[in-house]
Order: sequence, then C-alpha cells, then structure tokens
Amino acid sequence: MAAALTQALRLHNGVEMPVFGLGTWQIPDGAPVIQACRDALEAGYRHIDTAAGYNNEKGVGQAVRESGLAREDIFVTTKLGNPEHRNGYDACLKAFDDSFAKLHIGPVDLYLIHWPCPGKYHDAWRALENIYASGRARAIGVSNFLPHHLTDLLTTAEVVPMVDQVEFHPRLMQKDLMTFLRRQKIVQESWSPLMQGKVLAIPELQEIAKKHHKTVAQVVIRWNIQHDVVVIPKSTHRERIVSNAQVFDFELSADDMKQIDALDQDKRVGPHPDHFNF
Ligand code: NDP
Repeated sequence: MAAALTQALRLHNGVEMPVFGLGTWQIPDGAPVIQACRDALEAGYRHIDTAAGYNNEKGVGQAVRESGLAREDIFVTTKLGNPEHRNGYDACLKAFDDSFAKLHIGPVDLYLIHWPCPGKYHDAWRALENIYASGRARAIGVSNFLPHHLTDLLTTAEVVPMVDQVEFHPRLMQKDLMTFLRRQKIVQESWSPLMQGKVLAIPELQEIAKKHHKTVAQVVIRWNIQHDVVVIPKSTHRERIVSNAQVFDFELSADDMKQIDALDQDKRVGPHPDHFNF
C-alpha cells in the first residue's frame, strides 16, 4: 500500500508530484494539524497541502520534521495569500519568506498563487518565477485559475505554471478547463474532492461503492486518480485518513468512470474564481 501512495505525476520540469495527499484547510495549527499529518504520514501519505491562509504552516512543518522520514520523500505544497498578492511583487517575495520560515523544512516542493487576483497576478507570478529560480521552491503553479486567467498569464510568463489546483468533484468537472490544462501540460489538482463531505450522499456513487466493496470517498478519490488529477482529501479522523488512502487496490471500469462523469451539474461548493471577494 505504501508503495502505491508514492504513485506520482511528472510535472513539466521533471519534478514528481504524488497523485494523492492530505488537505489541511480548516485544521488548526499546533496539535490538531500535527496529529493529522502524523497520522497521514504513518499511513503512508507522502504529500501534504497547506497555505499561508490556513494558518497552520508551522504545525505542518513540525510534523514533517518530526516524521523520521527523509525530507525529499515528502511533497509539501503551500500557497501565496491574497493580501500579499494584492500588495505587489515585493510583498509576494516577503510572503514566501514568511511561509518558508514557518515551515522550516528547506525548499518547498510546490508554491502556488492561491487565487487569481485581477490585475495583480502577473506581478505575483514574476515573484514566483524569482523564487523558483532561487531554488527555494522546486515547482511553482497557480490555483483557481480558469482558462482565461491562464491565457492572460501566459502572455507575460517566462515559466509555464506546473500545476493548477481547482475545485473538482463529480458535481463539477469543468471539462473545458481540464482539456485546456492537458494541452498546456499543466497538471490538474483537485480541491474539495469530497465536496466537503456532501459527495457521500449521492445515490449513484453509493451504488458504485457497494459494487466495489469500497466507500464513496474511496470511489471518488480513485475517480480523480484515474483522471490523472492529483487529489488531496482532508480529514482529522485517523480511520478516515487511513481509509481514504486505500484506493490503490481496485480499479473503476470505463463504465463506472462514465457514470461518475455524468453526475456533473456544474455545481460548486466553493466560490467561483471570477466572483471571489479579494
Ligand atoms: P474535502 O472535499 O476534502 O472534504 C473534507 C470533509 O470531508 C471534512 O469535513 C472531512 O471530515 C470529511 N471527510 C473526509 N474523509 C471522509 C470520509 N472518508 N468519510 C466521511 N467524511 C470524510 O474538503 P476540503 O475543502 O478540505 O478540500 C481538500 C483540501 O483541498 C483542503 O483541505 C485544502 O488543502 C485544499 N483546498 C484548496 C482550496 C484552494 O482554493 N486552493 C480551496 C479548498 C480546499 P473530518 O475532517 O471530520 O474527517
């Protein structure tokens, strides 16, 4: 099981990103996030997603340092907060310094612009390119960027983003975005893959789960992986952390995949990137 949890996608700069990891949004800093990360790493997870805005980078860093694992065996993502993003290039560099110091694990594996702040993300991206060139982030990318944001960003970018982390689950597939990212060789990563828990109530998924003797969460996580989408479900319950990772011992059929794709209703659980209140 642990070996499968290191299954990775290769970013366009050659960095290997594990397809499965732990989300940490809304897990408080200190003991709660340290415990969740510890449980995940013990269960074989090798990838943790945090952000400046989650206010738990310190705890994530501590759990990574205390894990007993080699630093290079754990993939850690963090993200640029919106207030610093809004404040321009120098504020973005400083924001990274803060995250770097809080995590205290050496270079981060992936640094993302958290949201596309209109009129500001070109400068923010320049800052990320600088950070990438300095070697303090092994890869850089964006989050919540739609095709129109990326098309615009690519008019000035020197480095093509390696990843776009976006809302993605059976009720929100955004197929045009998926096609766009594939064409640009940008790896797609999903947030709120379990619709913050709501996915569990979808009857069609319960049927597919029953057929495979799996949970709905496992089916949806597996569906992400079979779509080559990096998936980072969040949990603070050890038994869920363990079971969410048990997705490398079964396969969804082409028909299962089609049935799950058909559940798309263009329905979000989070904000639309074009209507986000910066
Ligand atoms: P998820 O879709 O991962 O759902 C998490 C919720 O589902 C929690 O309430 C959790 O409860 C519950 N849950 C997890 N596993 C199970 C299970 N097996 N059975 C039943 N319930 C379960 O939501 P998130 O919004 O947290 O998204 C995942 C991650 O994506 C975030 O943590 C964050 O890292 C990232 N993210 C990024 C965003 C961005 O803008 N870039 C925006 C939102 C999220 P419990 O903890 O009690 O187990």
